[in-house]
This record gives sequence, C-alpha cells and structure tokens, in this order.
Amino acid sequence: MIDTHCHLEMSPFDADIDEAINRAQAAGVVKMLTIGSSPESIDKAVALTERYNCVYAAIGIHPHDAKLFTPEIYRQIKSLASNKKVVAIGETGLDYHYKHSPVDVQREVFIRHIELAKETNLPVIIHSREASDDVVSIIRDENVSSGVLHCFSGDEKMAAAVMSSGLYISLSGTVTFKNAVALRAIAASIPDDYLLVETDAPYLAPTPYRGRRNEPAYVIHTARTIAEIRGVSYEDIDRITTLNANRLFGLAPAYKEGQITYKIRNSLYLNITNRCTNVCTFCVRYQTDFVKGHNLRLSREPSDVEIIESIGDPAAFDEVVFCGYGEPLTRIDTVKNVARYIKDKGGRVRVNTNGLAALIHKRNILPELAGLVDSISISLNAHDAGTYESLSRPPFEGAYEAVLEFISGAKDFIPEVTATVVGTSGVDIEKCREIAAALGARFRLRHLDAVG
Ligand code: SF4
Repeated sequence: MIDTHCHLEMSPFDADIDEAINRAQAAGVVKMLTIGSSPESIDKAVALTERYNCVYAAIGIHPHDAKLFTPEIYRQIKSLASNKKVVAIGETGLDYHYKHSPVDVQREVFIRHIELAKETNLPVIIHSREASDDVVSIIRDENVSSGVLHCFSGDEKMAAAVMSSGLYISLSGTVTFKNAVALRAIAASIPDDYLLVETDAPYLAPTPYRGRRNEPAYVIHTARTIAEIRGVSYEDIDRITTLNANRLFGLAPAYKEGQITYKIRNSLYLNITNRCTNVCTFCVRYQTDFVKGHNLRLSREPSDVEIIESIGDPAAFDEVVFCGYGEPLTRIDTVKNVARYIKDKGGRVRVNTNGLAALIHKRNILPELAGLVDSISISLNAHDAGTYESLSRPPFEGAYEAVLEFISGAKDFIPEVTATVVGTSGVDIEKCREIAAALGARFRLRHLDAVG
C-alpha cells in the first residue's frame, strides 16, 4: 500500500515522526509521498526523503500560499526537483473556498507549476476545492496529461473530464464518512487504472479516527472502504493502487512478466492465452496490459503443466476461472486437461468465453465440457447481428447466430449458463435480457471499463 499524499513535514509530526512511520510500515504501507507545499516546508520534505527510505517527496506551493510564489521559489523548486526522490510537482491548483490568495494569482501560479512539471518531466499533484470548472479548463488548455487530482471532492463530470486527460483520481478518508454518498458513487465507478489512495495526513482522518490527527497508517481504512464499495478485496485495492502509484510517480518498475494465474477476491483466474478471434471495440486488451493490478500480457502461452503448477490447491478458491487476455476455448484441449485436474482436486470451474468455439474448431465442443465445467459465461454482446458485428468484429460469417446457438446448447452440458453484455452505446440491454431468457440462460450486465 502506498500513501500518495501526506504532510509528514508539518509540525503535527515533529514529536513522533519515527513512530508514525513505523506504524505505517507495520500496517503494510510501504511507501509514503510527503508533500512540501509551502515556502518553508519544501526543503524539510526533501530532507525527510534522505532520512527515510520509504519516504518520497512532491514539492510546490499550495494555492492558499500562491501569493507568496516568486521567481526565486520557482528556481528553488526546479533545482530540488533534480533529486531522485522528488517524484512530483505540487500540490498546486485552485481553492475558491477560502481564497487565501487572490483567484487570478492562484490561476497564474497553477500554470507556472504545470510549466515546472513539464520542464522537470514530473507529474503534477492538483488540489481543487470549489473550482472544478477552472481546474478542468486549465488542465485542458495547458495539455496536462500526467498527474493526479488529490483528495477528490468533485462530481462525476469532473472525474470524467480529468480521466479523459489521463490523470489519476486519489481518494482520501472523506470516502469513509457516512454522509459521503456522492463520493462513494464516484469511488465505485472510477476504472482501476485511474485509482489512487491517500491520507492527506495530518488532515481528514478516516473513520474510525475521524476528528483525530491523521497519519499514513490510516490509509488502510480508506482502502478497506473503497474495497467494500467496489465489491473486491482489500488485497485487490492494495495491488491496484500500488501499481498505479508506482507507475505515476516512477517509484518502481511495473511487473515485466505476464501472469498465468491471478487472484481477484477469492477467485483464481487462469490466463492461458492472449489470442482471440474477435476485436471488440471495448476490449481492455487494447488499452492496458493490466487487470486489477495483474499484468496479463503473456510472452508465450503456458503449457498445461505450468498452468496446473501455478494453480496449487484449486479447492482453496471459490472458483477457478478460465479467462485472461484472450479466448480460452481456442485452447480447448488445455481447458479440458486443466479443468479435469481442478475437478479431481475438488475445485469449481468457470469458463468465460466469446461463444465462438464451434466456428473456431468447426465442431460442437460443448459435449466435451460436460462434467468438467460448472459454470460458463458467454459474451452475447448485442441484441442483433448487425450490432454484434460492429462491436465485436468477428472474422466469421454468422458469428452472432453461432453465439446464440452456443448459449442455447450450453445448458445441456453445463449446470450454470450466463449470457453477458457490456453496457455500451447502441446496445438494447432489455432486448438482450429477453434473448438470454428465451435461450434458457441467466443474464449479467457488465459495466464498460470494469474488468475482473
Ligand atoms: S471476445 Fe473478449 S478477449 Fe476477445 S476481443 Fe472481445 S472482449 Fe477481448
């Protein structure tokens, strides 16, 4: 876990910074980003990175103090930014709630920080309070494409605008507050690739410490709440946000090797191929190598033995799912061999498929799955053939009809059959629901950009 925004250089930590850092590490917080955000605290923040291996720094002038920004401070920040442990510029931005500095000065200083971030090739950490429209305009006008909106308090429109520029969204302890209904809805909808967590310590302690001094160890409470909201495990949020923080701030290289097996919640997923016949417009494979923080880009297809060795004890999981970055049933023999192993060891098997196996193998493979597969999720994707063709771009004639036939035939050999649809424009969800029912399958709507 990484606390991407705290203020360890502030006076509330003067008396017990060693203990606060020890408590954070004991809680599993492996790195902390301390934000020197006033003329007096910049040097102190950088000095802390020299004292503690696990502490990194961002430097800038908070919008409250924008009126104190001078050419000399600009030069000071630029010079300090060459330190390897200074990993971002900020926090900068706009605060129209207090207006401690005049609005026009805040805007000008925000732009100066953006220039600094570009000159130093570092991401920018942005503060926005009651200034959403101006912050978004400046991000767009200045072409900011690397950074984070810290302690996010905006609405869905702002979140979408910020993410469309390529910026991350960082959630703080405010998401744990009972009255944070709108923020929780946003926390549920941010795609994995854009999510970060922070404490903003010493401010904004999460429940159950609300009202007390905040500290980096408490970031785990925020992460737990986000996990609950998103229906995943704490470990999933830890992995996702740690990967994102490492990527944004360059704290560690991403995994090099694609994984054969990966865990989400208490299910184990098998990544047996990256090949697929289709080229779906919404396919996550064309956007990222990662799902829930796991690298799925394989350098080669694993053998049956390698997959089995990677599974370990299949009964330890709620289910073992053939999924990954491709169509698993392109490797039908491997699916059968590995599924047999899982069933023999008392595990439960699910297959996620595009439903085109009959066209891929030129035979009906469903009888071969009998007794080996407990549940199958088949991508219906559309309410008619034309929409299916334009969304999934299959290489076969009659692909949509083949998917319908596969869904209908599956129930004779597999106990649980679900037809799935990704909620995307042009798809009549209610019609898809009716089609699934008519074919004797369950129905599941998947959210665009929510994978795993
Ligand atoms: S069928 Fe699945 S893996 Fe294949 S392109 Fe479509 S979304 Fe991607």
